[in-house]
Amino acid sequence: MAARNLVALAPVRKARGVHWSDRARSLWPVRTGAAFMLYGLPFIIGIGIPFLHHPLQRVVCGIAVFFGAMLGTFSIERTVRPGLQWGHWVRQALAAHLPIFILAVNLVLAILLMPTQFGPRMACVVVVHFTVRYLFLAGIHYRVLRWVGLLRPAGERLRSLVTATALGMQQPVPSTSEQQSDVAQAWALPLQHELIFTTGLLAICTDEEVGAVVAHEMAHLSESRAMLAGRILAWSLPSMLIFIPPMVQWSGPPSAILLLLVYFLAHRAWQHYSKRMEERADRAATASEQDAGAYARALCKIYEADLVPAVNAGKRASHPDLYDRMIAAGVTPDFPRPAKPEHASFVGVACLVLLFIAVLLYQ
Ligand SMILES: [Zn+2]
Repeated sequence: MAARNLVALAPVRKARGVHWSDRARSLWPVRTGAAFMLYGLPFIIGIGIPFLHHPLQRVVCGIAVFFGAMLGTFSIERTVRPGLQWGHWVRQALAAHLPIFILAVNLVLAILLMPTQFGPRMACVVVVHFTVRYLFLAGIHYRVLRWVGLLRPAGERLRSLVTATALGMQQPVPSTSEQQSDVAQAWALPLQHELIFTTGLLAICTDEEVGAVVAHEMAHLSESRAMLAGRILAWSLPSMLIFIPPMVQWSGPPSAILLLLVYFLAHRAWQHYSKRMEERADRAATASEQDAGAYARALCKIYEADLVPAVNAGKRASHPDLYDRMIAAGVTPDFPRPAKPEHASFVGVACLVLLFIAVLLYQ
């Protein structure tokens, strides 16, 4: 997997010296391939390999593939941040990927273990699945990050910027934390009324720019109760899928197809409303600027530092295109609008085809 990433990264490495938006564009399909290997491949290999007879062998194999895929992403992150240290990266990668993998395992195991008849076993699967899912919604992984020292209360600089912005927006001052990470990011936890900023973001943005990002995140904390309920509902949506096995048993495959259709439609509707909330938060950030253009500059710095494409690959991205966000914030980017990135790289598709051939040969 590391070799696959290195081969796929070759065009990105050659693109050194070109504008960051072009490098981000060529890096995108490598990243989508790496994400598939992290969250898809462990299940395909763990479940699909026929010579693993004991369920425990499949679990160990799936976990090994996940950690192998995670190690493979080091070369990608080193392309984004050439000075990245190994030890630094391991802790950050575990903090970023492990919660998503545990949630994926929780979903796949519940589907596999779900019985087709009502009874204590079904109750047990449902209770364990929802308990794990809602523990993450309640922020159990942030407790772990605090415990291992990766998440700390906000420092003096961030605290004073959050207080000033909250007072300016006439909102209560939220609790704020700083996560040790080279990735430049900030996000709001509406349920906990809390903001989290990474040290990577704080290192590259000026006080005015951080203040504008705080305003964006504060806008998420002021969303309506209906929107908060929508966020909880959206979090619960994948859990619908655990009921596929009993539904197939009770009323045949068409009911499972209907369930999948409802899931995809509800997911699409949520993506639509979520993007509208991002646009609302962007407007709040621009309106609260102390220094004209600070928000657009902050966005551009964040996307450039993380090499995120300035134009999304598809319409279903969680946020609008950076290019449009900057224009909406009153600043025309000083580079032409890039083309959309590809969804998948040639190397990624070739690896997938080879994998299927290998599995077929073993059957
Ligand atoms: Zn946002």
